[in-house]
Amino acid sequence: MKILQKLKVIYTDLYLKWQLGDGDGSHPTNPVRAELATQMLTEKYGEDVVVVDPIDPAKEDSDMDALRQTHDEKFIEEVLAGRSGEWTGTKPELGQTALAMFKGTIRAVEAILSGVKVVFNPQGAKHHAKYDRSSGFCVFNDMTYAALALQAKGLRPLYIDWDIHAGDGVAEMLSGTGIPRISIHGGNNFPYDRRYQVPFGECHDEADHCYNFNVGSFDGDEIFMECIDKAREIIEAYKPDVILLAAGADGHTGLDNLSGTNTYTAVGFTYAAEMVAEMAIKHADGRVLIGGAGGYQPYKETPETWALVVGTIFDRVREGVLAND
Ligand SMILES: [Zn+2]
Repeated sequence: MKILQKLKVIYTDLYLKWQLGDGDGSHPTNPVRAELATQMLTEKYGEDVVVVDPIDPAKEDSDMDALRQTHDEKFIEEVLAGRSGEWTGTKPELGQTALAMFKGTIRAVEAILSGVKVVFNPQGAKHHAKYDRSSGFCVFNDMTYAALALQAKGLRPLYIDWDIHAGDGVAEMLSGTGIPRISIHGGNNFPYDRRYQVPFGECHDEADHCYNFNVGSFDGDEIFMECIDKAREIIEAYKPDVILLAAGADGHTGLDNLSGTNTYTAVGFTYAAEMVAEMAIKHADGRVLIGGAGGYQPYKETPETWALVVGTIFDRVREGVLAND
């Protein structure tokens, strides 16, 4: 029997409280990008998209257990009390917002386990967060949780990240788990960790399934697509049965992308999304869990890029999975 597939998007207006720094609206991570991407997808897909609230009061205890399995207890307490290096002052509402974004990815994992193929948490993929500290606008590492939760259910997850900054938190937190991490990022960018910043093709720890592709400061679609081809080879060899994607849009061209100098366009992002969809259909029965990660052109390019990537994956997977039924 053919199951009519719907796209799931995780969103709450609470995400809009994610005002970091001094909270005066000047911080580059303007969460309006999540609201706009959700609107774009809702307008495009109508009844074929289901928007899910990450907050489910009935799941408060199990959500907190999931957070405690992922992060240091003291660090969690500090954040929920309103203290973090990512903002100034004591702001418990920001701790709650960080928690909501993490819960968003818990809901996304539940969706995948219940048979949904493509699910998107625009405020997910906080990929710099470490076990006991925040880093680079990231507080709780939701993708690490997702990978381990799916692995615990007997699946073979693989993580791919094309945010322009290295997915260092996920790479570290999943070290030794056997779960592959592929990161395509600028070699001269934050987090300036030399383990991830080496010449093209040299930054692999094959034994630990950690793969890194560095692009240059001004590189665009051509190099990005070359990296995507290399990623495809790794995914083909591993044959994951669920793909986790950090779909950062901060490699997008334009001067206002947090001083980014890369020049990716819709051409490169479409190519990348099609590769993920193709691998998901071939190996993972179409299962793709997507987090937004970075993107600092909040009113146009970032939400447009996310909607393009998520829509392309959903369209291809829906066609491909139905064809396989
Ligand atoms: Zn980034």
